[in-house]
Amino acid sequence: MRILIVDDEPAVHESYELCFPARPGTLDAMATELFGEPASNGTIEVPTERRHCLQGLEAVAAVEQARADGMPFAVAFIDIRMPPGIDGRETARRIRAIDPDIHLVIVTGYSDFSPAEIGKVAGPADKIFYIAKPFEVSEIQQMALALCRRWDNDRELSAARALLAEKVATLEEKSAELEANESRAMHLAMHDALTDAPNRAAFLRGLTERGRQGTPFVTAMLDLDRFKLVNDTLGHLAGDQLIREVCATIQSHVPEGAMVARLGGDEFGIFFDAEDAETAVSVCDRIVTACASTFNVLGHAVRCGASCGLVTSQPGGERDPTDLLRQADMALNEAKRSGRNTVRVFDVSMDEGIRVRREIEAGLSRAIARNELSLAYQPIVGRGQLDIVGFEALVRWNTPERGAISPAIFIPLAEESHLIHELGDWILDHALAELQHWPGQYVSVNFSPIQFRRSHFVGHVMDSVRRAGVEPHRVQIEITETAIFDDAEHAAQTLCELRKLGFRIALDDFGTGYSSLYNIRKFALDCLKIDRSFIDGMGRERESAAIVHSIIHLGRALGLGVIAEGVETESQAQALRVAGASHLQGYLFSKPVPAAEARDLVTRKFLSLSGGNAAAPSLVAAARH
Ligand code: C2E
Ligand code: CA
Ligand code: CA
Repeated sequence: MRILIVDDEPAVHESYELCFPARPGTLDAMATELFGEPASNGTIEVPTERRHCLQGLEAVAAVEQARADGMPFAVAFIDIRMPPGIDGRETARRIRAIDPDIHLVIVTGYSDFSPAEIGKVAGPADKIFYIAKPFEVSEIQQMALALCRRWDNDRELSAARALLAEKVATLEEKSAELEANESRAMHLAMHDALTDAPNRAAFLRGLTERGRQGTPFVTAMLDLDRFKLVNDTLGHLAGDQLIREVCATIQSHVPEGAMVARLGGDEFGIFFDAEDAETAVSVCDRIVTACASTFNVLGHAVRCGASCGLVTSQPGGERDPTDLLRQADMALNEAKRSGRNTVRVFDVSMDEGIRVRREIEAGLSRAIARNELSLAYQPIVGRGQLDIVGFEALVRWNTPERGAISPAIFIPLAEESHLIHELGDWILDHALAELQHWPGQYVSVNFSPIQFRRSHFVGHVMDSVRRAGVEPHRVQIEITETAIFDDAEHAAQTLCELRKLGFRIALDDFGTGYSSLYNIRKFALDCLKIDRSFIDGMGRERESAAIVHSIIHLGRALGLGVIAEGVETESQAQALRVAGASHLQGYLFSKPVPAAEARDLVTRKFLSLSGGNAAAPSLVAAARH
């Protein structure tokens, strides 16, 4: 601890010396007396060093030097009158300007200045003290000890304060960081990482809030039409890029205040203000049209298209966000079913449709056990003699609750729920069993693409055929273009194996898919079945007639048989025979009939002249000649 003493009289300095004896222990004793503990116990140090100055300026310089050396004075005892130099007040002022912490003790015999006056220039007041001259030794001693201790405490306190301030600063920094982290986490939880658009959770939250406003709005769902194709052919990077592009496109086509969210995969959710369905549809139409444009994806021009389903909410109407999304989804499914690039508005019948579907699905899973299934057989006749060469097996389902349900309805449901395998096995086994009742005809069995793509499909069919004791050449497998073109390489191999085993292969519904005759060359086929819609249109539209002609023509050029299905009139039959179809099938000859009736038909070999169609007899009669 350092003490500064400034006085112009050398004698005074000597008096000071008496106050600070060199013998250690004296101060300790005094400290014990004063504070109840010795001065040297570490909390306070004995003033170890004193600096004596005779002039103010000298003292100011000493203070400056001490601070520069990092050893500041704790206390300065200052005389007031110190001619010829600056007086005590000025000395105090200058010292204070240099050292804010030092305690100043003004030692004077005159009342030249009031304490307030000196306090004003060298304050603060709690760091300025007065002692009157001549002083008592103990006065100086007490003052020195008390002020040294206080100075030390002050220093500790301010060090602690600085430390605290530093801690507070780091804490503040940390909390700011935490806050930033939290808001980043919140952002991640509520946004889709790929597009940075709100995600499903954010969408549902937004929808809930929007619902509370009590004004009309629209909830829409949008889904890309051929996204899987882009992903499969151009890769996932391209798929991701396309999703981002589409998201930006949607965002730029929605009205103000709308929310566009990526719900997952290639599915987007949108809600926006709209007074009525008409306005809503026109907004969604605009979005769908924009999505149908060509996007540049990693250097590829990609056209994908989109479907959209929407539901409008009027004040007092449906508000539950999950329900709204479900309804928009139903409308979206309807849009997808009715073709690409379309917008559909939800109506309650869609909900009803779904309920019915669920019921049918549930019923279907019990249909086999309950013996509700049967097969109908429809003859396929040769073009010349109109003799029955085979029968197409067509499944029938008669339910106690709903009566007969068309296979056009329940087969797709069975495909979706994978009941198709069990159903398909049942159909194949029953169709094969029926063969023994026919002299030499084949049975033509329909297989869904899902069955066809099943692993070990060939072995599976072969097992059934062996079990039934049937020769493969009496079995015709009907498959559609979708079954073979989705995985052409695998399909080509499967067909080849089947053909080698002796099975007949027919390409069903030909002309409705995307394949061309050029593409089908590489598949091992026996015949094409021209889709019913072209036969139906033959008499009315020139295009249909032209398509029928070219299918027959090219089919024959490839060495394939051509079966025309759905022949209902005599003139259709005539035209088809002239065009060169090898076989005919349709109501004109026979509707699909129960097994017993088919057995009956086949024993007669030729179809009865009372085939139900007035025009038929003449045709059939003519054929026999
Ligand atoms: P598909 O394979 O094209 O079967 C021909 C459909 O046309 C049958 O309808 C048949 O009854 C009908 N049809 C035949 N001749 C005529 C005609 O002259 N005029 C009209 N208007 N229709 C005719 P069905 O039996 O309702 O079958 C519909 C579709 O359901 C079938 O189309 C087929 O895709 C599927 N399907 C039917 N049975 C089976 C089956 O056992 N397995 C599989 N996987 N699908 C089946
Ligand atoms: Ca068929
Ligand atoms: Ca068909």
